[in-house]
Amino acid sequence: MMQSVTGSPPESLDHYCVVGHPVAHSKSPWIHARFAELTGQRLLYDRKEAPLHGFAQALAALRAAGGKGCNVTVPFKFEAAALATTCTARAQLAGAANTLVFSDEGIAADNTDGVGLTRDIQQHAGFDLRGRHVLLLGAGGAAAGVLGALIDAGCAEVVVVNRTLVRAQALVKRHAEIAALQKMQLHACPLIELAGKFDVVINATASSLQGDSLDLPAHLLAPQALAYDLMYGAAAQPFMAWAREHGGQARDGLGMLVEQAAEAFFIWRGVRPPSAQVLAELRQANA
Ligand code: NAP
Repeated sequence: MMQSVTGSPPESLDHYCVVGHPVAHSKSPWIHARFAELTGQRLLYDRKEAPLHGFAQALAALRAAGGKGCNVTVPFKFEAAALATTCTARAQLAGAANTLVFSDEGIAADNTDGVGLTRDIQQHAGFDLRGRHVLLLGAGGAAAGVLGALIDAGCAEVVVVNRTLVRAQALVKRHAEIAALQKMQLHACPLIELAGKFDVVINATASSLQGDSLDLPAHLLAPQALAYDLMYGAAAQPFMAWAREHGGQARDGLGMLVEQAAEAFFIWRGVRPPSAQVLAELRQANA
Protein backbone atom coordinates (compact mmCIF):
# COMPACT_ATOMS: atom_id res chain seq x y z
CA MET A 1 0.00 0.00 0.00
CA MET A 2 1.15 3.52 -0.69
CA GLN A 3 1.62 5.89 2.16
CA SER A 4 0.01 9.31 2.06
CA VAL A 5 2.44 11.82 0.69
CA THR A 6 3.48 14.93 2.53
CA GLY A 7 6.01 17.71 1.95
CA SER A 8 6.82 19.69 -1.19
CA PRO A 9 6.26 17.76 -4.41
CA PRO A 10 8.96 17.48 -7.06
CA GLU A 11 8.21 19.95 -9.86
CA SER A 12 7.28 17.21 -12.32
CA LEU A 13 4.30 16.04 -10.24
CA ASP A 14 0.90 17.73 -10.14
CA HIS A 15 0.00 18.69 -6.59
CA TYR A 16 -3.41 18.29 -4.89
CA CYS A 17 -4.46 18.22 -1.25
CA VAL A 18 -7.39 18.22 1.16
CA VAL A 19 -7.94 21.42 3.14
CA GLY A 20 -9.89 21.38 6.40
CA HIS A 21 -9.82 22.06 10.13
CA PRO A 22 -9.12 19.55 11.53
CA VAL A 23 -7.71 17.43 8.72
CA ALA A 24 -5.18 15.11 10.34
CA HIS A 25 -7.72 12.25 10.40
CA SER A 26 -8.48 12.47 6.66
CA LYS A 27 -8.14 9.29 4.62
CA SER A 28 -8.18 11.25 1.34
CA PRO A 29 -4.37 11.24 0.89
CA TRP A 30 -4.33 7.46 1.15
CA ILE A 31 -7.28 7.09 -1.25
CA HIS A 32 -5.87 9.44 -3.90
CA ALA A 33 -2.39 7.93 -3.64
CA ARG A 34 -3.96 4.53 -4.31
CA PHE A 35 -6.06 5.88 -7.20
CA ALA A 36 -2.89 7.40 -8.71
CA GLU A 37 -0.96 4.17 -8.29
CA LEU A 38 -3.71 2.05 -9.88
CA THR A 39 -4.27 4.40 -12.83
CA GLY A 40 -0.61 5.31 -13.44
CA GLN A 41 -1.27 9.00 -12.80
CA ARG A 42 1.73 11.01 -11.61
CA LEU A 43 0.56 13.26 -8.80
CA LEU A 44 1.06 14.08 -5.15
CA TYR A 45 -1.82 14.54 -2.73
CA ASP A 46 -1.37 15.65 0.87
CA ARG A 47 -3.32 17.43 3.61
CA LYS A 48 -3.35 21.06 4.67
CA GLU A 49 -4.88 22.30 7.90
CA ALA A 50 -6.07 25.89 7.43
CA PRO A 51 -6.76 28.18 10.40
CA LEU A 52 -10.50 28.60 11.03
CA HIS A 53 -10.37 32.16 9.69
CA GLY A 54 -7.64 31.52 7.14
CA PHE A 55 -9.22 29.43 4.38
CA ALA A 56 -8.94 32.08 1.64
CA GLN A 57 -5.27 32.66 2.47
CA ALA A 58 -4.60 28.91 2.47
CA LEU A 59 -6.15 28.61 -1.01
CA ALA A 60 -4.10 31.56 -2.28
CA ALA A 61 -0.92 29.93 -0.96
CA LEU A 62 -1.75 26.60 -2.65
CA ARG A 63 -2.37 28.34 -5.97
CA ALA A 64 0.78 30.46 -5.68
CA ALA A 65 2.78 27.26 -5.09
CA GLY A 66 1.47 25.80 -8.37
CA GLY A 67 -1.19 23.47 -6.92
CA LYS A 68 -3.67 22.05 -9.43
CA GLY A 69 -6.63 21.74 -7.09
CA CYS A 70 -7.86 20.54 -3.73
CA ASN A 71 -10.63 18.85 -1.84
CA VAL A 72 -12.34 20.87 0.87
CA THR A 73 -13.70 19.44 4.09
CA VAL A 74 -15.28 20.63 7.36
CA PRO A 75 -15.84 23.52 7.97
CA PHE A 76 -14.88 25.24 4.71
CA LYS A 77 -17.30 23.83 2.10
CA PHE A 78 -19.64 26.85 2.07
CA GLU A 79 -16.71 29.27 1.98
CA ALA A 80 -15.15 27.29 -0.88
CA ALA A 81 -18.25 27.76 -3.05
CA ALA A 82 -18.45 31.44 -2.15
CA LEU A 83 -14.79 32.06 -3.04
CA ALA A 84 -14.86 30.21 -6.37
CA THR A 85 -14.82 31.98 -9.72
CA THR A 86 -17.27 29.46 -11.19
CA CYS A 87 -19.47 26.73 -9.69
CA THR A 88 -20.98 23.70 -11.39
CA ALA A 89 -24.77 23.45 -11.19
CA ARG A 90 -24.58 20.92 -8.35
CA ALA A 91 -22.15 23.05 -6.32
CA GLN A 92 -24.33 26.10 -6.88
CA LEU A 93 -27.45 24.23 -5.77
CA ALA A 94 -25.66 22.98 -2.67
CA GLY A 95 -24.08 26.38 -1.99
CA ALA A 96 -21.11 24.28 -0.95
CA ALA A 97 -18.07 22.79 -2.69
CA ASN A 98 -15.73 19.92 -1.86
CA THR A 99 -13.64 19.88 -5.06
CA LEU A 100 -11.71 22.84 -6.49
CA VAL A 101 -9.76 23.09 -9.73
CA PHE A 102 -7.12 25.84 -9.97
CA SER A 103 -6.24 27.52 -13.26
CA ASP A 104 -5.04 30.88 -14.55
CA GLU A 105 -8.71 31.84 -14.93
CA GLY A 106 -9.42 31.29 -11.24
CA ILE A 107 -11.03 28.61 -9.10
CA ALA A 108 -13.69 26.23 -10.48
CA ALA A 109 -15.81 24.61 -7.76
CA ASP A 110 -17.74 21.35 -7.80
CA ASN A 111 -19.46 19.17 -5.25
CA THR A 112 -18.99 15.40 -5.48
CA ASP A 113 -20.50 14.45 -2.10
CA GLY A 114 -23.97 13.77 -3.51
CA VAL A 115 -22.87 11.52 -6.33
CA GLY A 116 -20.53 9.81 -3.86
CA LEU A 117 -23.43 9.00 -1.56
CA THR A 118 -25.88 7.83 -4.21
CA ARG A 119 -23.25 5.69 -5.99
CA ASP A 120 -22.36 3.99 -2.73
CA ILE A 121 -26.01 3.35 -1.86
CA GLN A 122 -27.06 2.20 -5.32
CA GLN A 123 -23.94 0.50 -6.70
CA HIS A 124 -22.08 -0.83 -3.66
CA ALA A 125 -25.03 -1.45 -1.30
CA GLY A 126 -27.38 -2.43 -4.18
CA PHE A 127 -30.22 -0.32 -2.74
CA ASP A 128 -32.49 1.35 -5.31
CA LEU A 129 -33.40 4.90 -4.26
CA ARG A 130 -36.21 5.35 -6.79
CA GLY A 131 -39.59 5.92 -5.14
CA ARG A 132 -38.11 5.86 -1.63
CA HIS A 133 -39.12 7.96 1.36
CA VAL A 134 -35.94 9.47 2.81
CA LEU A 135 -35.20 11.22 6.08
CA LEU A 136 -32.13 13.47 5.90
CA LEU A 137 -30.74 14.41 9.32
CA GLY A 138 -28.60 17.56 9.24
CA ALA A 139 -28.44 20.73 7.19
CA GLY A 140 -24.72 21.50 7.15
CA GLY A 141 -22.25 21.24 4.28
CA ALA A 142 -22.66 17.49 3.85
CA ALA A 143 -26.48 17.54 3.82
CA ALA A 144 -26.41 20.44 1.36
CA GLY A 145 -24.09 18.44 -0.87
CA VAL A 146 -26.25 15.31 -0.99
CA LEU A 147 -29.79 16.67 -1.29
CA GLY A 148 -29.57 17.45 -5.03
CA ALA A 149 -28.29 13.95 -5.76
CA LEU A 150 -31.16 12.39 -3.75
CA ILE A 151 -33.58 14.38 -5.89
CA ASP A 152 -31.79 13.26 -9.08
CA ALA A 153 -31.91 9.64 -7.91
CA GLY A 154 -35.71 9.67 -8.07
CA CYS A 155 -36.64 9.50 -4.38
CA ALA A 156 -40.37 10.02 -3.79
CA GLU A 157 -39.90 12.19 -0.70
CA VAL A 158 -37.12 13.77 1.35
CA VAL A 159 -37.78 15.23 4.79
CA VAL A 160 -34.94 17.34 6.22
CA VAL A 161 -34.59 17.51 10.01
CA ASN A 162 -31.97 19.61 11.71
CA ARG A 163 -31.23 20.77 15.25
CA THR A 164 -31.44 24.34 13.92
CA LEU A 165 -34.69 24.20 11.98
CA VAL A 166 -34.14 27.40 9.97
CA ARG A 167 -31.08 25.86 8.32
CA ALA A 168 -33.20 22.87 7.22
CA GLN A 169 -35.86 25.24 5.92
CA ALA A 170 -33.28 27.25 3.96
CA LEU A 171 -31.88 24.05 2.42
CA VAL A 172 -35.36 22.94 1.39
CA LYS A 173 -36.17 26.34 -0.06
CA ARG A 174 -33.03 26.28 -2.21
CA HIS A 175 -33.99 22.88 -3.64
CA ALA A 176 -37.76 23.41 -3.88
CA GLU A 177 -37.88 24.21 -7.57
CA ILE A 178 -35.79 21.26 -8.72
CA ALA A 179 -37.71 18.92 -6.39
CA ALA A 180 -41.02 20.12 -7.85
CA LEU A 181 -39.70 19.52 -11.38
CA GLN A 182 -38.95 15.92 -10.39
CA LYS A 183 -42.34 15.66 -8.65
CA MET A 184 -40.57 14.87 -5.38
CA GLN A 185 -42.05 15.85 -2.02
CA LEU A 186 -39.55 17.94 -0.04
CA HIS A 187 -40.02 19.61 3.30
CA ALA A 188 -38.32 20.50 6.58
CA CYS A 189 -39.67 19.42 9.94
CA PRO A 190 -38.65 19.45 13.63
CA LEU A 191 -37.63 16.01 14.91
CA ILE A 192 -40.45 15.99 17.43
CA GLU A 193 -43.10 16.37 14.71
CA LEU A 194 -41.81 13.57 12.49
CA ALA A 195 -44.49 11.06 11.58
CA GLY A 196 -44.50 7.97 9.40
CA LYS A 197 -41.79 5.55 8.42
CA PHE A 198 -38.80 6.02 6.14
CA ASP A 199 -37.11 3.61 3.73
CA VAL A 200 -33.81 5.46 4.14
CA VAL A 201 -32.53 7.49 7.10
CA ILE A 202 -29.30 9.40 6.43
CA ASN A 203 -27.29 10.81 9.31
CA ALA A 204 -25.47 13.85 7.91
CA THR A 205 -25.00 15.49 11.30
CA ALA A 206 -21.76 15.88 13.22
CA SER A 207 -23.48 14.96 16.50
CA SER A 208 -21.40 11.89 17.22
CA LEU A 209 -18.20 13.91 16.91
CA GLN A 210 -19.41 15.74 20.00
CA GLY A 211 -20.40 12.49 21.71
CA ASP A 212 -24.10 13.44 21.45
CA SER A 213 -26.95 11.07 20.67
CA LEU A 214 -29.65 12.09 18.21
CA ASP A 215 -32.44 10.54 20.34
CA LEU A 216 -34.29 9.19 17.33
CA PRO A 217 -37.67 7.54 17.87
CA ALA A 218 -37.84 3.82 17.02
CA HIS A 219 -40.86 4.21 14.73
CA LEU A 220 -38.86 5.95 11.98
CA LEU A 221 -37.57 2.86 10.21
CA ALA A 222 -39.71 1.01 7.67
CA PRO A 223 -39.02 -2.75 7.47
CA GLN A 224 -35.59 -3.35 5.88
CA ALA A 225 -34.90 0.40 5.91
CA LEU A 226 -31.38 1.55 5.12
CA ALA A 227 -29.77 3.65 7.85
CA TYR A 228 -26.72 5.42 6.45
CA ASP A 229 -24.22 7.37 8.54
CA LEU A 230 -21.95 9.70 6.58
CA MET A 231 -19.37 9.09 9.30
CA TYR A 232 -17.28 5.93 9.47
CA GLY A 233 -15.22 4.15 12.09
CA ALA A 234 -16.10 4.56 15.77
CA ALA A 235 -18.12 7.74 15.15
CA ALA A 236 -20.65 5.86 13.01
CA GLN A 237 -21.25 3.05 15.50
CA PRO A 238 -23.98 4.54 17.77
CA PHE A 239 -26.27 5.41 14.82
CA MET A 240 -25.61 2.07 13.14
CA ALA A 241 -26.31 0.20 16.39
CA TRP A 242 -29.59 2.13 16.79
CA ALA A 243 -30.58 1.12 13.24
CA ARG A 244 -29.82 -2.57 13.76
CA GLU A 245 -31.66 -2.57 17.08
CA HIS A 246 -34.78 -1.39 15.26
CA GLY A 247 -34.66 -3.76 12.29
CA GLY A 248 -32.80 -1.56 9.81
CA GLN A 249 -29.75 -2.33 7.70
CA ALA A 250 -26.84 -0.11 8.67
CA ARG A 251 -24.10 1.30 6.47
CA ASP A 252 -21.26 3.71 7.22
CA GLY A 253 -19.89 6.49 5.00
CA LEU A 254 -16.65 4.83 3.89
CA GLY A 255 -18.08 4.03 0.44
CA MET A 256 -19.27 7.60 0.02
CA LEU A 257 -15.81 8.82 0.99
CA VAL A 258 -14.20 6.70 -1.72
CA GLU A 259 -16.83 7.54 -4.36
CA GLN A 260 -16.73 11.30 -3.78
CA ALA A 261 -12.94 11.04 -4.06
CA ALA A 262 -13.23 8.99 -7.28
CA GLU A 263 -15.43 11.68 -8.83
CA ALA A 264 -12.95 14.40 -7.79
CA PHE A 265 -10.10 12.33 -9.27
CA PHE A 266 -12.06 12.08 -12.53
CA ILE A 267 -12.63 15.85 -12.58
CA TRP A 268 -8.92 16.52 -12.09
CA ARG A 269 -7.39 13.74 -14.19
CA GLY A 270 -10.09 12.64 -16.68
CA VAL A 271 -9.62 9.04 -15.55
CA ARG A 272 -12.03 6.88 -13.51
CA PRO A 273 -10.16 5.02 -10.77
CA PRO A 274 -11.20 1.48 -9.67
CA SER A 275 -13.22 2.71 -6.70
CA ALA A 276 -14.71 -0.68 -5.73
CA GLN A 277 -11.23 -2.14 -5.36
CA VAL A 278 -10.01 0.80 -3.30
CA LEU A 279 -13.10 0.64 -1.07
CA ALA A 280 -12.50 -3.07 -0.45
CA GLU A 281 -8.86 -2.38 0.43
CA LEU A 282 -9.83 0.47 2.75
CA ARG A 283 -12.41 -1.70 4.53
CA GLN A 284 -9.79 -4.41 4.98
CA ALA A 285 -7.21 -1.92 6.26
CA ASN A 286 -9.74 -0.57 8.78
CA ALA A 287 -11.21 -3.94 9.85
P1 NAP B 1 -21.23 20.93 9.26
O1 NAP B 1 -21.39 21.78 8.06
O2 NAP B 1 -20.44 21.41 10.41
O3 NAP B 1 -22.74 20.57 9.76
C1 NAP B 1 -22.92 19.83 10.93
C2 NAP B 1 -24.38 19.37 11.02
O4 NAP B 1 -24.50 18.54 12.18
C3 NAP B 1 -25.37 20.51 11.18
O5 NAP B 1 -26.58 20.13 10.59
C4 NAP B 1 -25.51 20.58 12.71
O6 NAP B 1 -26.73 21.13 13.15
C5 NAP B 1 -25.49 19.13 13.05
N1 NAP B 1 -25.05 18.89 14.43
C6 NAP B 1 -23.84 19.17 14.96
N2 NAP B 1 -23.83 18.80 16.26
C7 NAP B 1 -25.04 18.27 16.54
C8 NAP B 1 -25.63 17.71 17.72
N3 NAP B 1 -24.92 17.62 18.86
N4 NAP B 1 -26.89 17.27 17.65
C9 NAP B 1 -27.60 17.34 16.49
N5 NAP B 1 -27.11 17.88 15.34
C10 NAP B 1 -25.83 18.33 15.37
O7 NAP B 1 -20.59 19.51 8.88
P2 NAP B 1 -20.80 18.74 7.51
O8 NAP B 1 -19.83 19.19 6.50
O9 NAP B 1 -22.24 18.79 7.17
O10 NAP B 1 -20.39 17.25 7.92
C11 NAP B 1 -21.23 16.43 8.73
C12 NAP B 1 -20.55 15.10 8.90
O11 NAP B 1 -20.56 14.36 7.68
C13 NAP B 1 -19.08 15.28 9.29
O12 NAP B 1 -18.80 14.48 10.40
C14 NAP B 1 -18.31 14.79 8.08
O13 NAP B 1 -17.11 14.12 8.45
C15 NAP B 1 -19.28 13.82 7.45
N6 NAP B 1 -19.05 13.74 5.99
C16 NAP B 1 -18.71 12.54 5.45
C17 NAP B 1 -18.49 12.45 4.08
C18 NAP B 1 -18.11 11.14 3.47
O14 NAP B 1 -17.59 11.15 2.35
N7 NAP B 1 -18.35 10.02 4.11
C19 NAP B 1 -18.60 13.58 3.26
C20 NAP B 1 -18.98 14.79 3.86
C21 NAP B 1 -19.18 14.85 5.23
P3 NAP B 1 -26.89 22.73 13.37
O15 NAP B 1 -27.21 23.30 12.02
O16 NAP B 1 -28.01 22.82 14.34
O17 NAP B 1 -25.58 23.22 13.92
